[in-house]
Amino acid sequence: MRISVFGLGYVGCVSAACLAELGHEVIGVDVNQVKVDLVNDGKAPVVEERIGELIAEVVRTGALRATCDVREAIAGSDVSLVCVGTPSEPNGSLCTTYLERVTEQIGAALAERGGWQTVVFRSTMLPGTCGNLLVPILEKSAGGTAGVDFGVAVNPEFLREGTSVRDFFDPPKTVIGELDPASGDAVAALYDGLPGEVFRVPIPTAEAIKYADNAFHGLKIGFANELGAVCHALGVDSHQVMDVFLADRKLNISPAYLRPGFAFGGSCLPKDLRSLVHAAQRADVAVPILANVLPSNSAHLERAVELVERTGKRRVGLFGLSFKPGTDDLRESPLVELAERLFGKGYDLRIHDANVSLSRLLGANREYIETRLPHLAQLLADSVDEVLDHAEVCLIGTRDPAVLAALPHGDGPVLIDLIHLPDADARRTEPGYTGLAW
Ligand code: NAD
Repeated sequence: MRISVFGLGYVGCVSAACLAELGHEVIGVDVNQVKVDLVNDGKAPVVEERIGELIAEVVRTGALRATCDVREAIAGSDVSLVCVGTPSEPNGSLCTTYLERVTEQIGAALAERGGWQTVVFRSTMLPGTCGNLLVPILEKSAGGTAGVDFGVAVNPEFLREGTSVRDFFDPPKTVIGELDPASGDAVAALYDGLPGEVFRVPIPTAEAIKYADNAFHGLKIGFANELGAVCHALGVDSHQVMDVFLADRKLNISPAYLRPGFAFGGSCLPKDLRSLVHAAQRADVAVPILANVLPSNSAHLERAVELVERTGKRRVGLFGLSFKPGTDDLRESPLVELAERLFGKGYDLRIHDANVSLSRLLGANREYIETRLPHLAQLLADSVDEVLDHAEVCLIGTRDPAVLAALPHGDGPVLIDLIHLPDADARRTEPGYTGLAW
């Protein structure tokens, strides 16, 4: 199939590259010229496992190219996938500005193109957004009727940053919210041959499923972290507790997100919880469990600050800055928040994150760092040793093998393990090692 993908961020560039790898002819569209140029040069606009090699390969074979020109993309495609961002508004509600703008642009291009096209929304959006907001915009700008002149579907994305390419080819499920059967068929054909169950449901159901997933993931992380903190205070090994808890398959518990570790963050879980709670409140529905997942997460972050304070040391090293290991994504990163808390308290801080440094070198996250984190940019060190030489106490929030290999045993800075390192059990008896996630 000929596919255009709108938005070359984490979801869009992974979807575009993987669909091209599956044999489709893909054209990526973004308003950001830097991302378009990176893709056309065969380089990934994000740092993720395997995405660099994949984009190099599919751009070389001609299966993927990128443009800023919406008309050109729509003219040459049968299906459009919309993967633009839906961040939080300051009051916690869902920002639909990018969705509205791109939908209008797609509609205008469809009016010129003529013929059947299916517009598929992959962005996360509250139930009702597609039907009540986007379809009317599309109908007005395209000058036609959805389901008659063009197709509309919602196909939420379940990838996890860090393992997104793997997740694309081995999805937990495929959810297709369809306005009409032809639109649903077009989406199903995109993923033909991929494993996992396919669920074809009404559009609002598809929109809501994504929120069920993300709210539950946040809840699981908060549950594991609170349990970890209580076990630690009571002198119990929480990972041993969870080993047994998770072995109980009769209750069908997936171990994902259920390991005590650091606070969650990123561009999805916090903002999706926020907008879900905001929508519930507007509808006068009390949601005390959901409303307290983010406060629980903040309390967990605060425990890390307290651990540093308890050491009484001032020169601090932080390994890891992205919102979780394996990505360069800094949006709503709890490690950024931790760095800001420590920086604000006057600690002498140095930070190392190889993915963030690589992304900065490529230019992908340079603007984000310069505009949003200029106060942290000056603290970023490209080498592991620079941070180790500086620090009296080191916080470890990454699984980067180069960092793990360089961490001293016993002698050296105090090590505060934020994520339960692979050798945590062996280190536990070493002096100067302490863990947030025991
Ligand atoms: P992102 O911010 O990384 O990327 C969005 C891209 O859209 C940017 O490159 C931006 O320049 C581009 N864009 C904005 N307006 C545009 C327009 N008019 N035309 C073309 N491009 C435009 O966002 P993301 O992390 O990829 O998330 C996208 C959506 O998918 C969000 O709704 C998010 O909630 C959802 N989602 C994200 C993840 C994740 O792990 N990041 C997982 C599942 C779902």
